[in-house]
Amino acid sequence: MLTFTADRTGSQARLGKMKLPHGTVSTPCFMPVGTQGSVKTLTPAEVAEAGAEVIVCNTYHLYLRPGHKRIQAAGGLSKFMGWNRPILTDSGGFQVYSLAALTRVTDEGAEFQSHVDGSRHMFTPELVVEIQEALGSDIAMCLDECPPYPVSRPVAEAAVARTSLWADRCRAARQPGTNLFGIVQGATYPDLRERSARSLAALDLPGYAIGGLCLGEPSEVTYDMVERVTVLLPTDKPRYLMGAGYPEDIIAAVRLGVDMFDCVLPTRNGRTGTAFTSAGRVAIRNSRHADDPSALDPACDCYTCRSFSRAYLRHLFVVGEALGPKLLTLHNVRFFQHLMQDIRTAIEQGEFKSWSNEFLSRYRSSGEPAGQ
Ligand SMILES: [Zn+2]
Repeated sequence: MLTFTADRTGSQARLGKMKLPHGTVSTPCFMPVGTQGSVKTLTPAEVAEAGAEVIVCNTYHLYLRPGHKRIQAAGGLSKFMGWNRPILTDSGGFQVYSLAALTRVTDEGAEFQSHVDGSRHMFTPELVVEIQEALGSDIAMCLDECPPYPVSRPVAEAAVARTSLWADRCRAARQPGTNLFGIVQGATYPDLRERSARSLAALDLPGYAIGGLCLGEPSEVTYDMVERVTVLLPTDKPRYLMGAGYPEDIIAAVRLGVDMFDCVLPTRNGRTGTAFTSAGRVAIRNSRHADDPSALDPACDCYTCRSFSRAYLRHLFVVGEALGPKLLTLHNVRFFQHLMQDIRTAIEQGEFKSWSNEFLSRYRSSGEPAGQ
């Protein structure tokens, strides 16, 4: 079962422990993304060594390939992929809306065509819970309706109502012991966010996510929505801001009382040659690194930074060696775990505010404009 205790030390930032079937997770935490049952380019041993205590996998993708029943027959997702720590599965709602050809959404569910072979499927709240239970997820997410950004108020309002209706049905369908999180929607409309948070809080679920943000809206808007929602959510349940991956955003959200994060940025950027470092972002292909014997991030203790120069890493990317994306991913995943570890230590010592100001001034002062 999931137990969560939060300490407050000045700001709204909290320290917590989530006890899950496959292990205990210290919060605030960052969950690397293993969409298709693999954190791209890394072995589960490498992900664990980087310090990750929980990863995110995706219901939509695993339902389509290889199929949740096949994974269940193989002993569950943990066993199937060789990761013996907790797994959170996204409900697939986001992918249905963003990736698949969505054919029809009704109160019954979301009908879509697979992006793989065009086959037709329907996600209902009940099916999405059943899939995640078959996968053996430590944390399952409710099916939600996640409109794109920007979106009109009537569409956002309808999505809030449907998300609440579906959360209620997911809750009724779950087996005892399933840690089911609700997802707050409401786009960038303050009153809709508040309505969604109140309605889901009333369901007394074991945790709450804030969805439909970090979709391109200005940061001030993201933070405003997060603040309005966190004050309405129960203080003794974990809060998860979906899709937030920039260190600045994570720090701002921790300050507002968010406990969990996930994003494809560390892995996706690692594969394309952008590293997150304690001195800002580094675009490793840049010719300025061609003769640089220094480590990618002198403050990092990962295998990449202990073993290789920027010059060598750049060379790997320039000639297209598979080792390049792997080494940068390894570093980025470690960087985010290190960041969360520093955040937890700072909260514990009651110094989160001064620590974050110092981190951000160093991080912002010298990073390269690397884009995504
Ligand atoms: Zn490193």
